[in-house]
Amino acid sequence: MPTSRKKTNSVKVVWEDNAVVIGGDAPVVVQSMTNTDTVDVIKTAVQIKDLFDAGSELVRITVNNKEAAEAVPKIRNQLDLMNCKVPIVGDFHFNGHKILSEVPDCAVALSKYRINPGNVGRGLKKDVQFGQMIDIAIKNDKPVRIGVNWGSMDTELLAKLMDKNATKKNPLSANLVMREALIQSAINSAKKAISWGMDTNKIVISAKVSHVQDLIAVYKELSDRSPFPLHLGLTEAGMGTKGIIASTAGMAILLQEGIGDTIRVSLTPEPNGNRSTEVVVAQEMLQVLGLRAFAPLVIACPGCGRTTSTFFQELAEKVQVFLRKQMPLWREKYPGVETMNVAVMGCVVNGPGESQHADIGISLPGNWEQPVAPVFIDGKRGPTLKGDKIAEEFLKIVSDYVVTKYSINSKV
Ligand code: SF4
Repeated sequence: MPTSRKKTNSVKVVWEDNAVVIGGDAPVVVQSMTNTDTVDVIKTAVQIKDLFDAGSELVRITVNNKEAAEAVPKIRNQLDLMNCKVPIVGDFHFNGHKILSEVPDCAVALSKYRINPGNVGRGLKKDVQFGQMIDIAIKNDKPVRIGVNWGSMDTELLAKLMDKNATKKNPLSANLVMREALIQSAINSAKKAISWGMDTNKIVISAKVSHVQDLIAVYKELSDRSPFPLHLGLTEAGMGTKGIIASTAGMAILLQEGIGDTIRVSLTPEPNGNRSTEVVVAQEMLQVLGLRAFAPLVIACPGCGRTTSTFFQELAEKVQVFLRKQMPLWREKYPGVETMNVAVMGCVVNGPGESQHADIGISLPGNWEQPVAPVFIDGKRGPTLKGDKIAEEFLKIVSDYVVTKYSINSKV
């Protein structure tokens, strides 16, 4: 099991009666970000709703100009009409101070502001503009994330640290100085916000990088050196398997050590791909680590020379899709169902054993076996399925099992 979570401050992100808690004793929160043009109110609201339905507990949107800021209250309104109370977070770069001042309704409709100290302003303007955003957050009682990013870091701070490092007898590598600049930028900015009156329990910090070893090193330091909840994520993780593996490799090590209070998996979707994949990846990462449970897990063997037909893969996929599809309803009616394990196994070698370890499992016949598929329920042998309707019959058995085992009435 993961070590216990590092104790941090506790930050509430609220929209009406929905409060999402980041840090403290709260479970790790899953969040995501839209990739629509924020000015397109309907498209953005629909994508936020899709991400929320997939399980995103917070959704961040780009607020890059006045038109986008003016769209935010309309998006909020549209979400409320759809009964989607997910808190939305505004992502600001360069001009956040200006557009939040010019469009006060945007400041109200957002539940949290992400501020990037690397591009909030330069020279003397930096503190003034950062201070303006903090003032607006205080006035509207909103939390902020001070989100540093490797690709847009505070160049003045970096130059200062580089110069100082150059005078040392044994200077550090440029990479180590860069890591230190990220850490200092996040922590010093948070301290500055507190000195201007921001409640310490209103600040989340992050320092995202795109390499796994940097991520681990930077977040361990952030965790040791600050009390703020940490938003964890590998920035620009990439596409497909590379993005999933890089994100998981970095975040899993930190989560295992109790570091990280909210996560986002920054996957680049395939063209016209499903944005919600990043939510599913984040959930599954937390679930396989034993930190949270979102939907029943399917345990399936990889298949081998004993499963040369595609029936086994098709059944595993059908079960996976079926379980996720049922979750919005099952979550309400059958509490605890999200912890269920379902095994779909390819042959007699590991099929019966693995199915017995699961809550419910099916061991399909491999090549050269009798064409029968025994089902195992709570470790005991159940019905044996055969013929053309194995998939449908197995899904019916799974549904009946859920009703019997997880319905509220069965627990009283
Ligand atoms: S359970 Fe059977 S089909 Fe699946 S990988 Fe093992 S030997 Fe192959």
